[in-house]
Amino acid sequence: MSLIDGFEHVARENESLAGYTRLKLGGPAEYFAEPTTEQELTALVMRFSEEQKPIRLIGSGSNIVVGEEGVEGLVLHLAAPVFCELSVGQNRITSGGGTKLAHFVSTAVREGFAGPEQLVGIPGTVGGALHCNSGAHGEDIGTWIESAEVLTRSGEVLTRSGDSLSFSYRQSSLDELVILRATFQFEKESPEMLTKQMQKLWIVRRSTQPFSQENAVYVFKDHGGESAGELIDRCGLKGLQVGQVQVSELDANIFLASPGATSQEVLELIERVKERVYESLSVELETAVRIW
Ligand SMILES: Cc1cc2nc3c(=O)[nH]c(=O)nc-3n(C[C@H](O)[C@H](O)[C@H](O)COP(=O)(O)OP(=O)(O)OC[C@H]3O[C@@H](n4cnc5c(N)ncnc54)[C@H](O)[C@@H]3O)c2cc1C
Repeated sequence: MSLIDGFEHVARENESLAGYTRLKLGGPAEYFAEPTTEQELTALVMRFSEEQKPIRLIGSGSNIVVGEEGVEGLVLHLAAPVFCELSVGQNRITSGGGTKLAHFVSTAVREGFAGPEQLVGIPGTVGGALHCNSGAHGEDIGTWIESAEVLTRSGEVLTRSGDSLSFSYRQSSLDELVILRATFQFEKESPEMLTKQMQKLWIVRRSTQPFSQENAVYVFKDHGGESAGELIDRCGLKGLQVGQVQVSELDANIFLASPGATSQEVLELIERVKERVYESLSVELETAVRIW
């Protein structure tokens, strides 16, 4: 019997994860599923938990490097419409975990909800951003959370109130298996002002970061208030290359993969940059990217 018996319409064995990551690299998931309802999601989680198989979530895969050998167990992808809904209330947005962050940001700006305009241009989903407490310009997504609905590894759905959660730099205590949806609360501002601010930040990002079509990964956390990209640049490492993977000339905290690259080369470049930064500046860079 296969672990995905009865789920063949939404689950597959030995699915390459490369197409689900921004780097477009990496090996297969032993099992991969895109459930279409919450019931299917829960049933899959319970089945794999009972068999004590690892279960992981993938959002847009913009903060994950998958190793060449792939991963054991189940990888879940929340691509179905039910996980990507977004609704607007008085000063509030409720968003599915699979909703694109860009949709969340543009909706907030249109409604005159202040804060999310700072996140313009960060690739990913709302669930991935909450899990990593993604942010920019001193604003993190955790700042606005009111509550979140999560699914645990035992298949239980829980509501976590904003007061019970803690967010720090690129870290969140929202670490249950699945962030199903979250509600955010905002201060009001003029939509025109927020639109102008978002456009300004978008132009800056477009001129300092690779295009969305490029296979890229944002690698390290900032260190003691200093941007990781600036630290790497100070060591003269822009353009450093291992095989077909290169430190971006635009932002040194981004690595770019060209055709023929492997995730092993990404991992080697991470180690090489860490070593060189430590030798030159005695700074130990910590990875922001998740290595699977
Ligand atoms: C060019 C580029 C620029 C970037 N700029 C920034 C930046 O300025 N600031 C910043 O903070 N980040 C930045 N990032 C990193 C990345 O975009 C963010 O961390 C993003 O929020 C990750 O979202 P994702 O959906 O891609 O998550 P993934 O990469 O798919 O997953 C990341 C983690 O979140 C977990 N996860 C995903 N979805 C869920 C869910 N629904 N429930 C529970 N866990 C989940 C995964 O299991 C994994 O552990 C950048 C990345 C790139 C490639």
